[in-house]
Amino acid sequence: MKAAVVSATNPGKVEIIEKELPKLASGQALVDVEYCGVCHTDLHVAKGDFGPVPGIIPGHEGIGIVREIADDVTSLKVGDRVSIAWFYQGCGTCEYCLTGRETFCRNVKNAGFTVDGAMAEQCIVVADYAVKVPEGLDPAQASSITCAGVTCYKAIKVSDIKPGQWIAIYGCGGLGNLAIQYAKNVFNAKVIAVDINDDKLQLAKEVGADLVCNPLTDGDAGEWIQAQVGGAHAAVVTAVSKVAFNQAVNSVRAASKVVAVGLPPETMDLEIVKTVLDGIQIVGSLVGTRKDLEEAFQFGAEGKVVPIVQTRCLHEINDIFEEMEQGTIQGRMVLDMKKQEPKAVEARARVEEPVAK
Ligand SMILES: [Zn+2]
Ligand SMILES: [Zn+2]
Repeated sequence: MKAAVVSATNPGKVEIIEKELPKLASGQALVDVEYCGVCHTDLHVAKGDFGPVPGIIPGHEGIGIVREIADDVTSLKVGDRVSIAWFYQGCGTCEYCLTGRETFCRNVKNAGFTVDGAMAEQCIVVADYAVKVPEGLDPAQASSITCAGVTCYKAIKVSDIKPGQWIAIYGCGGLGNLAIQYAKNVFNAKVIAVDINDDKLQLAKEVGADLVCNPLTDGDAGEWIQAQVGGAHAAVVTAVSKVAFNQAVNSVRAASKVVAVGLPPETMDLEIVKTVLDGIQIVGSLVGTRKDLEEAFQFGAEGKVVPIVQTRCLHEINDIFEEMEQGTIQGRMVLDMKKQEPKAVEARARVEEPVAK
């Protein structure tokens, strides 16, 4: 089968190769991949930012149809549409797995990092960990919910936002626009979208943001939000920017939570006096559990959240990584495994007119 693998010689790039999958082991299922969204985490994996993994197939926003199941599998059947998510498998027995916090399992396996992921024509999943995609949810849109969507949905859950309260969403890219939709249409909150890119703020308005703030023209987002609404009741930071994290802390009311989702490599500045006197909580949120994903899918199926996706060919993956680094992507790029590779240039050369004398 055709698969993208992390290059051993070209950091940050993937190569398209022919790769054979092993035979199904106990508890596993073979999935024909339909779509796989491209996430910033895939770029981190390709660059070796989480440790080098040459030869691994990236991709953890996979959606596909079960083609085959191992003899002992009862949770899936052939023909089911399922997800291939970053949370690929937990140990199932540790304190985190047993208390609804399975994504923090210390022996977790992650699709597209510790095990082969979904940027391939086929992928092996652990049947009990593959979440079924409900009827009525477009599979390309479902791919986007598998990581970006569930990550935002979970982060807003963690923020403890209540209906009618103000939530600030920092970063309005692939995650942020979904965070706005979940916050608005599922949690019934009022949303302030913050981004330094006006195109992304325009998109934020279109998907339901009540207020938008561009710190480059409106000034410090923390001060702006305090002035506009008296502070947000929670903030979710999806931006890959230390500045955004710092402004988020200053944008919330007393006794509020700032939920960290984006992964800038720096540290954030935290004023201890404000943290103590205002009772600020800073909390990280990592993807979502199988139950979170099931819920996030259902809201997609009900039309409350509509991921903005554009389908591309597997062979365009390195171009997509470049676009990602340039910050030019609106919504999510999704690899369509059935899209054909663009025909080689020589096919065009053959039909060129002979040069006139
Ligand atoms: Zn992801
Ligand atoms: Zn565990």
